[in-house]
Amino acid sequence: NKKVVLRRYVTGLPTEEDMEIVVDTIVLRVPAGQTAVLVKNLYLSCDPWMRDRMSKHDDGDPTVLAPDFVIGEAMVNFGVGKVIDSTHPELTAGDLVWGMSGWEEYTLVTQTEYLSKINHKELPLSYYTGVLGMPGLTAFSCFFELGKPKKGDFVFVSAASGAVGQVVGQLAKIAGCFVVGSAGSDEKVSLLKDKFGYDDAFNYRSETDLGAALRRCLPDGIDVYFDSVGGATLDAALLHMRHGGRVAVCGMISQYGLEEPYGVRNLYCIIGKTVRVEGFNVNGYFHLYTRFEEEMAGYIKDGKVTVVEDVVEGIESAPASLIGLFSGRNVGKQVVAIAHS
Ligand code: NDP
Repeated sequence: NKKVVLRRYVTGLPTEEDMEIVVDTIVLRVPAGQTAVLVKNLYLSCDPWMRDRMSKHDDGDPTVLAPDFVIGEAMVNFGVGKVIDSTHPELTAGDLVWGMSGWEEYTLVTQTEYLSKINHKELPLSYYTGVLGMPGLTAFSCFFELGKPKKGDFVFVSAASGAVGQVVGQLAKIAGCFVVGSAGSDEKVSLLKDKFGYDDAFNYRSETDLGAALRRCLPDGIDVYFDSVGGATLDAALLHMRHGGRVAVCGMISQYGLEEPYGVRNLYCIIGKTVRVEGFNVNGYFHLYTRFEEEMAGYIKDGKVTVVEDVVEGIESAPASLIGLFSGRNVGKQVVAIAHS
C-alpha cells in the first residue's frame, strides 16, 4: 500500500521534502468485529486547508480546523474511491464513494460518517473532489448563505479560476449578477472570460494597483466580494464595497504560512457603508449537500456549469500538486488520479 506521509511539521509553506512516499502492507479485508469500510482510492483531492493540518498546533488552539496530521502516517483528505469490503450497513463492495480518506492506495475508513455514496455515476467521478464535492458545496453555501446575492448585484471573486472560484463565478452568473474575477496569470484570466462566463477579469499579479483594477472592472462598486485570498486583495475590495455590501470570507490563501500576516487597513469602511464581513466554514453546511448535489448535477448536465480540472496521474505526483496550490501552478481543480477502477 503506497502512501504519502508527513515527514515533519511545517512552518511557512510546505515543500516536497516535508512529505515522502512510503510502502507498507494492508490486509484487504475489514477486521472481524469492526464497523469500517475498506476503500480503494481512485482520486485524491488537493485542497489548501491541508496546509493547516501539516502544522503542529498548541492544545486548545481555537483556530484549528481539524486535528494535525500524524507524522509518519498517511495524510488525510477528501477523495473518491471504490468500496472493496465493508461492514457498514449501507455500503457494500463495489459501491463508489466520496469523502474523507487517506493519501494512499487503500484506506480502512473507520469514521464512516464522512463517506457518502456517489449518486451521479454518469458524471466524471473526479467531480466529487471538486464541483460536486467539498469545494462545490463551499462555493454554493458560502455564496448564497453569506453573500446573499440579488439579481443585478456586482460580484467580485478572487482565486476565481480555482476549484471554489470557478463554481462561484458561474453560480453568480446563473443568479443574474455582473461578475468579475481575479487570477494569477493571463491564461487563467482568459479561462475566466471565455470558459466560465465572467463579465470581466484581471491578473492581480500584473496589475500595479489593485484598487484601480477594481475601479476599472466594477466602476459602480462591489455588492458581494467572495474572498479566497485575503491580504492586499481584501484591502482593496473593502475600499470598493457598495453600501450594504457583503464580504463572504471563504479563505485567505495569500496569508497561509506567513510569519507576519498582512495588516488589513481599510476595515473602517465597513461602518459607514454598513458592510457585513462574515467568516465561513463548510463544516457547518453539509446539511445542504443533498439539495446542492442535485442542483449542481443538473447545471453540469444542462451545460450551465463548466468544469476545469487539473488532473495529474500517480500518487508520486501528489506532494508537488499540493504544493502547487500555493503558487497557483494548478489550472482549475487540482486532482491526483491514482487508480481508474
Ligand atoms: P484553488 O483551486 O483556488 O487553488 C488555490 C489558488 O489560490 C491557486 O491556484 C492560486 O490561484 C491562488 N493563490 C495561491 N497563492 C496565492 C496568493 N499568495 N495570493 C493570491 N492567490 C493565491 O483552491 P480552492 O478553490 O480549493 O480554495 C480556494 C480558497 O477557498 C482557499 O483559500 C481555501 O482555503 C478556501 N476554502 C475554504 C473553505 C472553508 O470552509 N472556509 C472550504 C474550501 C476552500 P491564482 O493563480 O489565481 O493566484
